[in-house]
Amino acid sequence: MEAVQKSLEQLAKRAPGLHSNSVSAKAAATQPSVHDSIDKLIAQVEAAKATIASSAASSSSPPNPAVLLAELKALVETAQKSILDRQKEFHAALSKSTKALDKKFPIPIDGVADPSLFSSTEAQNALERVIFNHLQRNGDWSTSYKFAAEAKLPLSPQTEALYVQLHNVAAAMSRGDLRPAISWAEQERAWLQTRKSGLEFALHRSQFIRIAAGAILPGSDEAIANRDPDGENVEMMSASIDQLNAGSTSANAASFHGDARTVTPDLALASLANTNVERALAYGREHFKPFRSTHLTEIQRLFTLLAYLPAFIPAPAYGPEGFDSVPVEHLIPTVPLVYRPLLDANLVHAPLLEPMFRLEFCARNKIAKDAPLSIGVEVGAGGALNKIIKVKAVMKERGNEWSQADELPIEIPLPQRLRFHSIFACPVSKEQGTEQNPPMMLACGHVLCLETLTKLAKGNGRFKCPYCPTESYLNQAIRVYF
Ligand SMILES: [Zn+2]
Repeated sequence: MEAVQKSLEQLAKRAPGLHSNSVSAKAAATQPSVHDSIDKLIAQVEAAKATIASSAASSSSPPNPAVLLAELKALVETAQKSILDRQKEFHAALSKSTKALDKKFPIPIDGVADPSLFSSTEAQNALERVIFNHLQRNGDWSTSYKFAAEAKLPLSPQTEALYVQLHNVAAAMSRGDLRPAISWAEQERAWLQTRKSGLEFALHRSQFIRIAAGAILPGSDEAIANRDPDGENVEMMSASIDQLNAGSTSANAASFHGDARTVTPDLALASLANTNVERALAYGREHFKPFRSTHLTEIQRLFTLLAYLPAFIPAPAYGPEGFDSVPVEHLIPTVPLVYRPLLDANLVHAPLLEPMFRLEFCARNKIAKDAPLSIGVEVGAGGALNKIIKVKAVMKERGNEWSQADELPIEIPLPQRLRFHSIFACPVSKEQGTEQNPPMMLACGHVLCLETLTKLAKGNGRFKCPYCPTESYLNQAIRVYF
């Protein structure tokens, strides 16, 4: 890659020779740039013109036109030579860099890449939208605006707002701040419940365990906790369930509408309690209520965990050094074996909950959880392209040609997470199911493709299933959708 980089740098150095303002190029400092040469020539022609005009006006002896022309001709030739030299330098650098690129990427993909795939306006537009989407997903806002302007793509404030929200919440999570994620999950509680998603509980569980481990979470107001006299604490701890209920409702309402950066009452309430255990208890009473019917066993386990943890007054010294590292490992030996999984980093560590949030957020807003461009490049550059090129070479050697553009000549194995829908391959013909040749289920429950079925049933429409072998009729078969 260094060779490519070097030749590109050379090219960039030569390029200013073509333009004016060529201060950056060393070569252009000693030799005039193309612009300078042309400007100089124009000035010289103008001067010659002025000389002729003034001599005509003053009616003195006119200069010999032949001499003037010869002089001008010499000037033009000098300028032309200088310009050609600059262009030659640039083209030499250009061809050198393309050679370096060719050397770096020696596989010719012309044979497998079908340029016509991207020649239609529709396809080009789709490609541009995928690139734009990728830039916005990655938060490259300024690049995305520039790209949209050049590709004449419409900007969608709604989509952008979604990506901004996704970015902000994810960034907060990576800092150990789960409040924006919790606030979103609370808003979407009904929807998350229909999906049987454990996101909201998982977020509160992480908060609970981290508080229990003595972490001082972002948003908890230590100043309030320190000023708090003991009497108030006792009062708070002995508050009736009804009062806590009321507190919980108002806290929910506050974080529902409020800015997540302000101190939400729930965390302030949690930090009113003195020790880590008391704070966690208060947090759990406050937030686990909506999950009693779905996560009761786990809530019981979480509260029991508190009984085994050493109690201490959390201070920044006990807390995490950075928000992204919560020291729970040292607590593991203090709790019985059965409770140790609760201190697992996957449950506790805020940044590790980010993929779970992303999944639900993207599903809720109907956006793909991974950028389509990344997936395309990952699958293609991750081995598919190489395999196809090899197979094509082998096929050519044997005199076969891979002609079908919409079908791959071989199977490309993909990791599970990159399989988005199932495909059907007929067990008899080994062909992949298509719209024209769909999978069909026989009366016995076995599935074959339509072409195989038609071949088997040739004649009277009656045939034996090649698997069981129950006899069935062609008109009994029904289409299966994968
Ligand atoms: Zn069968």
